[in-house]
Amino acid sequence: MAETMSADFTLAPGVMPTPTLPAITDLTRPFWDAAAQSRLLLPLCNACTRHFFRPEVACTHCFATDWQWVQASGRGTLYSYSVVHKAPAPGFVMPLVLAVVELEEGPVMFSNLVGCNDQDARIGMALQVRFEQVAAAVWLPRFGPR
Ligand SMILES: [Zn+2]
Repeated sequence: MAETMSADFTLAPGVMPTPTLPAITDLTRPFWDAAAQSRLLLPLCNACTRHFFRPEVACTHCFATDWQWVQASGRGTLYSYSVVHKAPAPGFVMPLVLAVVELEEGPVMFSNLVGCNDQDARIGMALQVRFEQVAAAVWLPRFGPR
């Protein structure tokens, strides 16, 4: 299937290095291209009409290979989270909040909670995606309070 493509991982001005950046493949390139335009895309299965994430060759619900990228609302709720106080590697701003976000369309996405104090995180809080550039070609979807 898709092979790993090289991406421009030159850091944007003022951005601290992030040790692990996503590998952009033919399968995931539409997601990252849209993220660079502050748009959140999700795979939508044409067979069972359900969204899924992360992108796979086949729908994770019914295994149909007939699916398309569609724009998501960017809204979700905080399903779970963990506050991390010790940096896993240089370049992280601590503390950081690892977040499991339940998207309005159904899938869950691992991300970070941003735009609020970690002590204000609450399960079920309403969130909105916001994109943060971490490298020249990489904008990560992160979530903050609505
Ligand atoms: Zn399906």
